[in-house]
Amino acid sequence: MSQIIRSVSDLKNEIYKVKAANTSIGLVPTMGALHQGHLSLVQMSKKHYDVTVATIFVNPAQFNNKEDLLKYPKTEASDIKMLISMGCDIIFVPTAAEIYGEEPLVKLNFGYLENILEGKHRPGHFNGVGLIVMKFFGLVQPTGAYFGQKDLQQFRVISTLVRDFDLSINLHLAPIIREVSGLAMSSRNLKLSKTDQKKAAAIYASLELAKNQLLSGGKKEVVLKNAINHLSSKSGLKLEYFEIVDAETLKEKTTVNEGDRLALCAAAIIAGVRLIDNIIIEL
Ligand code: AMP
Repeated sequence: MSQIIRSVSDLKNEIYKVKAANTSIGLVPTMGALHQGHLSLVQMSKKHYDVTVATIFVNPAQFNNKEDLLKYPKTEASDIKMLISMGCDIIFVPTAAEIYGEEPLVKLNFGYLENILEGKHRPGHFNGVGLIVMKFFGLVQPTGAYFGQKDLQQFRVISTLVRDFDLSINLHLAPIIREVSGLAMSSRNLKLSKTDQKKAAAIYASLELAKNQLLSGGKKEVVLKNAINHLSSKSGLKLEYFEIVDAETLKEKTTVNEGDRLALCAAAIIAGVRLIDNIIIEL
């Protein structure tokens, strides 16, 4: 039986009981508007841990743009139904007041990760991500936690928290679940018309194009130029960045060589909706 919990104190009580029974806990943090990508994380957690806790919380602290926060899709009733039908044990759905009743004084800074890719384009975003993830880690005390590769830099940020604070939490990076068109599933896709969703598939197409060219020995600058040209030629799509970086550090690669593990990362805006995607390859 799934339990829907809305208050921090009820969650603490429930986790206390679970921990007393020496049960392993898998955590799946989400911002709701759930799709198959989210559900795949819940499925993995259920397979590996005794109790799965999913959170549905649109975290205001990680939005650097107020309009983006207001526009963020909310489908709480159907999210809860989906999680219940998946057999998720605990569904935590707090309000912002419940979580940030007292405004945190702590500020998290992730060093060079703040100045690249998402960090560079969304100032303050990773502070917000770090704060909420640390809060959920503290409240849920999970044995393991699941995050999607779609937010690759977020995963690096959370890995940094686990490393720097010596947290005993297993982090799991889950593959990106895509639409048939290749478009990465995202809650934000709900804000796009069918036509714009088709246009958005160009992001993945450009990543595949770059992947194939790199795998067949293409030079980094040429591959990058081709991918950027591919995206720039699409009407209604505004490219924010396309980068070829080291898959672990996410630092830009000046040259690419055989044996390199690379992440190809892109962000673009379509009809006012900002989308990100990436592919990891090994040369
Ligand atoms: P969000 O609700 O967008 O904050 O996402 C919650 C978690 O689901 C994050 O760890 C995301 O990386 C992950 N996620 C989002 N989209 C996908 C997807 N298409 N495939 C796999 N995981 C995803």
